Amino acid sequence: QAKLKGRAQICGYEPSMQTQLSWRLEMEQALRRALAEDRLSIAIQPQLDEHERVIGGEALMRWQHPRHGWVSPEVFIAIAEESDLIVELETWMLDRCCKLLARLPVESLPRLSVNISVRHFSQPGFVEGVTWVTGTHGIDPSRLVVELTESIMIDGLEDAVERMQALKRLGVHLALDDFGTGFSSLSYLKSLPLDELKIDRSFVSNLDTDGSDAAIVETVLAMAQHLGIDVVAEGVENRAQQEYLLARGCRLFQGYHFHRPMSVEAFEALLTGSEVETEVGEG
Ligand code: C2E
Ligand code: MG
Ligand code: MG
Ligand code: MG
Repeated sequence: QAKLKGRAQICGYEPSMQTQLSWRLEMEQALRRALAEDRLSIAIQPQLDEHERVIGGEALMRWQHPRHGWVSPEVFIAIAEESDLIVELETWMLDRCCKLLARLPVESLPRLSVNISVRHFSQPGFVEGVTWVTGTHGIDPSRLVVELTESIMIDGLEDAVERMQALKRLGVHLALDDFGTGFSSLSYLKSLPLDELKIDRSFVSNLDTDGSDAAIVETVLAMAQHLGIDVVAEGVENRAQQEYLLARGCRLFQGYHFHRPMSVEAFEALLTGSEVETEVGEG
């Protein structure tokens, strides 16, 4: 910490930046402690098909700080991504998700999605880790969906494609998350071995009011159909959005209109037909 502070001074940061830095370091330590003491939790947001049947879910990390309460994953994931802590967190997440998949038969839970950060994805042992965790729990790897963002292409397309292909050989499904918010163009899409695209919720939320967002969504759906890639619409908040998407060929949905992220317990109850919906943390 002293070293970091010294560096901050040399670079001429404002004192408020130093405060921010030490706050981040404190949060990182608290997060490490939470992982070590098994105090992290998971929320699952159901994903539905065109008949509104639950066909899977997205696992989202949750952390309740002992003093600050629930911390948004947008905040703590960004902090974890500054070090290999993110690898540890997501390794924990993968283990929990595979365990859940092993417990539930494929008929009640066909698939579960996990978010993997670029830092973890780019680690040398990543594919081996996924092979190991699916093998240990004895699950069919095709029930696991790995959500990646466009940032995986930051160090070049070739490396990303190679690693994705290794995952595909294992059988894992691949999704491109937050599609449309990244820096990249549509042209690389045909080079990526993707099973699905998740249209970012920022486009979905303005479907009814913003003509260009509607045009983007329509184009993405048409293009994905052409490439044989499924599309998941994220952040569907009302019936009008659902209908617009359905009319243009979208078959997979996720959003508050259907369900908010819920505890694993509530998710299992939803799958078996006994409702106990409770939300865990933010989101
Ligand atoms: P994401 O992967 O795009 O996850 C979807 C986020 O959208 C979730 O926020 C979810 O609660 C929210 N959402 C879903 N439906 C709606 C809706 O209808 N309206 C609105 N306004 N929001 C909706 P959450 O749980 O706060 O997670 C935020 C982000 O944190 C995630 O975005 C993901 O990027 C990241 N995250 C969470 N867990 C992990 C993890 O284990 N690893 C990594 N790398 N990132 C994670
Ligand atoms: Mg996601
Ligand atoms: Mg997303
Ligand atoms: Mg996001």
